[in-house]
Amino acid sequence: MRPIIPDYLAEVLGDVEPDASGEPAGYIPELATADTKYLGAAFAMLDGEVYGSGDIDIEFTIQSISKPFVYALALSDRGFDSVLAKVGVEPSGEAFNEISLESDTGRPLNPMINAGAITVHSLAGAEDLDPAGRVERVLRGLSAFAGRRLKMDEAVYASEIEHAHRNLAIAHMLRSHDILTGDARTVVDGYTRQCSVLVTARDLAMMAATLANRGMNPLSGEQVVPEAVVRQVLSVMFSCGMYDAAGDWGTQVGIPAKSGVAGGLIGALPGQVGIATFSPRLDVHGNSVRGVSLFERFSSDMGLHVMEVPPAALAVLRSNHVVGSGPNALRVLELQGGIGFAGAERVVKEAVDNPPSEVKVALDLTRVYSIDDVARRMLLEIARRLTLSGHDVYLVDPESIMKDPDPGDGGRVTVVDSVDQAAIPMGAVQ
Ligand code: GLN
Repeated sequence: MRPIIPDYLAEVLGDVEPDASGEPAGYIPELATADTKYLGAAFAMLDGEVYGSGDIDIEFTIQSISKPFVYALALSDRGFDSVLAKVGVEPSGEAFNEISLESDTGRPLNPMINAGAITVHSLAGAEDLDPAGRVERVLRGLSAFAGRRLKMDEAVYASEIEHAHRNLAIAHMLRSHDILTGDARTVVDGYTRQCSVLVTARDLAMMAATLANRGMNPLSGEQVVPEAVVRQVLSVMFSCGMYDAAGDWGTQVGIPAKSGVAGGLIGALPGQVGIATFSPRLDVHGNSVRGVSLFERFSSDMGLHVMEVPPAALAVLRSNHVVGSGPNALRVLELQGGIGFAGAERVVKEAVDNPPSEVKVALDLTRVYSIDDVARRMLLEIARRLTLSGHDVYLVDPESIMKDPDPGDGGRVTVVDSVDQAAIPMGAVQ
């Protein structure tokens, strides 16, 4: 069978292709001459599979799409407190190159606008790195997100740095507020090099998939940044990633995203997929025109809006049945899937509404693939209360999904590998 997704992607690319509106970025001469015919889209799944159509192996500069990734590096290199002391997390609602600083502290409003990203560049790597070392830290970090060694486009760097008056003005403002502590020109130089890293839509999809996969690159298996950092980055992408179009984007597309002025656009849908598109003509916000249309289609065709979540809890309780009879009867609550708060609540409700009359009760986790922390505590509390009301409680957990299965405080569970083991009549010799 031919794979379905590339055919779908080719069809949607065909639909947006005739749209020739917008212009490539004019303020960076090297980008102004970009070939506007390019059009591509790639989906990277969390097992590393990449589906694509169109120009997904053409290299272009990453530009502002570097911002969320370097923010992630700075957060993991310096810690949340030091980064938040210098860069806020509030949407500015203004253009990417606006000088949006907090009036009292001089902090840039968020890390997705240039003021924030220039500051964030200065926070990547250890404090005592020299400028070249910092650029190398950034390049290595971006490469780890992509899963291959990336390089820079010297011509685009040279072209942008020659015309970087506005970013220099921003950096000097930041220096005057002591948000930047080093030389303003050196930081803009490093930031401009960061923006000139070459990527393909395939790379960008994999980078986005690393964010969607809680920071672990699906191909290399490397945990590039900690999970808590990824949550922070995706949240800021959601509220600030599309600049002054962030509200429209959040309501219509609903995928944490970031655009770049070379025509790239990424979206990271947590737990599902990393998406990237490439098409150089930009709208007034500096976002790729055809890229935005593609994402609108993807989101509505495939129900990818983050606020549209399937009711995962409904199926958590697969069955409630009894094995054996008489005094050895075993009540089995068979659970399945990934269990979070709402899923655990269904198990609590079942135990409360239909209190087991059997002495032996098993929570069967054989078909469960994940239990988050609140669900773990709720399931152990069920076990504790059942113990206190006279039950023998078993946890059928062949894959040790339940971490530290101790209900504490008078509760007791016996962990076994199968329902059969729990059902063996007490005192029977195997
Ligand atoms: N290097 C570009 C700049 O600083 C990045 C802007 C962007 O991609 N939105 O102007």
